Amino acid sequence: MNVPLLDLHPQMTLFRDQILDAVTSVIDSTRYILGSEVSGFEEEVAAYCGTRFGVGVSSGTDALLVSLMALGIGPGDLVLTTPYTFFATMGSILRVGARPVFADIEPGTMNIDPGEVERILEADRAGEQRIKAMLPVHLFGQCADMGRLLQLADRYKIPVIEDAAQAIGAQFPLVENNAVTWKRAGAMGALGCFSFFPSKNLGGIGDGGMVVTSDADLDRVLRSCRNHGAEPKYYHARIGGNFRLDPIQAVVLSIKLPHLEEWHRARRRNARLYRELFTRAGLADNPVVLPAEAHGNVKGADSANYHIYNQFVIRVPRRDALRRFLQDNSIGCEIYYPLCLHQQACLDPLGYGSQSFPVAEQAARESLALPIFPELQQEQIAYVVDKISEFF
Ligand SMILES: *Cc1c(COP(=O)(O)O)cnc(C)c1O
Repeated sequence: MNVPLLDLHPQMTLFRDQILDAVTSVIDSTRYILGSEVSGFEEEVAAYCGTRFGVGVSSGTDALLVSLMALGIGPGDLVLTTPYTFFATMGSILRVGARPVFADIEPGTMNIDPGEVERILEADRAGEQRIKAMLPVHLFGQCADMGRLLQLADRYKIPVIEDAAQAIGAQFPLVENNAVTWKRAGAMGALGCFSFFPSKNLGGIGDGGMVVTSDADLDRVLRSCRNHGAEPKYYHARIGGNFRLDPIQAVVLSIKLPHLEEWHRARRRNARLYRELFTRAGLADNPVVLPAEAHGNVKGADSANYHIYNQFVIRVPRRDALRRFLQDNSIGCEIYYPLCLHQQACLDPLGYGSQSFPVAEQAARESLALPIFPELQQEQIAYVVDKISEFF
């Protein structure tokens, strides 16, 4: 049996005719930059997330970049983030001339640890006060502990940019006015960043991204930043860049967005089946650590975070040998991520390599992502678990 890590054919086949019609009408219109397709899709995403505004940009990376630009973060500033994420989280901080400060992760969710965040912010307040923003990542489709992170951001007076590239539609129980409100990823901080890279839960036919916010001033500045800082056209009070979302991507994403919840449910169903089968095989917890679904850490939040499983990441001993074994058995799997950000060679001149984040470093040694895409068949999941069982 062949089990790919991700297969985009079923979605492509389902929407092929609709997508061709929509793309053809963009081509025929000869309006190729922004326009009603992009603004319409921006409104749809904002409505889905529960924010006032959405600003379409060229990628998830550029969503992070324009967000940092919009907050005026640059040389001399520090941004607090996680060492265990895709490179773009840190790359965007470095690109605006700022520097990352890392807080280690929680062992369960592998998201940034609020206890570490507090320790670092407290030390910064007592010292140079250079930390100008917090950039938590909702890793693999599960929200970081936004309840505690927002409290800290409020106490230390810094804005939060959510890297929700892997988590569009994920939900977190926030306490507001003594009641629990379920909030979508991206709608809790000052700014939320999404990616429409094809492997994300909502994927385009190329690159694309979006920033959501409910702050009208930030919305205005973001729109200016994605278009060379112009405001109005040909008048540049700031620099910005060309970070616009393409209308061809917008029409494709508009076709797919109404199906996103159904795809989240299918991914969650697949995750549940993995849990059942690993448990039945006697592998759960030892040696296969299953992905944790954290509770919101708030009173009244009786159910776990709404994890959208962009990735289903297990942790195992002898990870590299297991990976080779699965690949030899035609099972797609991937390591997210083999190296923490503070260990990346591009940081060598800055001397981050000597730092240590033991929880993140252990995650980088043990993590393995298994196939989880919505159209995966039950037999395929059973085959993956059987093969892992055979390996151990
Ligand atoms: C995918 C991803 C990005 C970047 O998105 P692109 O659209 O590929 O530029 C940023 N952060 C995280 C956590 C991601 O997974």
